[in-house]
Amino acid sequence: MDIVFNCPNCDQELAVDQSGAGTQIDCPACGEHITIPSTGKVTTNSLPPVPPPPVAASPIASSAAAKVELHLKVPVRDKPAESLINKPKPPLEVVQKGAGKRIRTRTIRHAACIESGHDKFDEKVSEFLQEVGEGNLVSIHVVNYEHFDVGIQKIVTDYGVLIVYRG
Ligand SMILES: [Zn+2]
Repeated sequence: MDIVFNCPNCDQELAVDQSGAGTQIDCPACGEHITIPSTGKVTTNSLPPVPPPPVAASPIASSAAAKVELHLKVPVRDKPAESLINKPKPPLEVVQKGAGKRIRTRTIRHAACIESGHDKFDEKVSEFLQEVGEGNLVSIHVVNYEHFDVGIQKIVTDYGVLIVYRG
């Protein structure tokens, strides 16, 4: 068995028989006067210690990281803006309901409701509103107008209603 060592001066690797341990020689490479060590790097092929695997590469750590990543993606898929884009259109029933009807007006004058001296204005208006139906009623406006009253031979101001409805 040989003693393998390096020259302390020029680092040249030297191999000497174990029997020469402790003796002084001249380095064949640089000529330095060196002493052969008693124990050097012996020629047994011992491998350097295997470093432990890095902790970060363990399967537990990587799966935990994957779960966190999936969790963060959830709010991205459920953006509220998408539901606003798919806002439901108004039901078809509403469109069809008004399709066959038109906006109309009816003006009822107070003077035209005087029958045989009796004021039938409220009665006439109530009858018409009943005929139209509350669902078709859009609005009612009060109107004023002037007409010549033959009884008193004067122009008088009277009132009436303008009813806006669908029919
Ligand atoms: Zn040397």
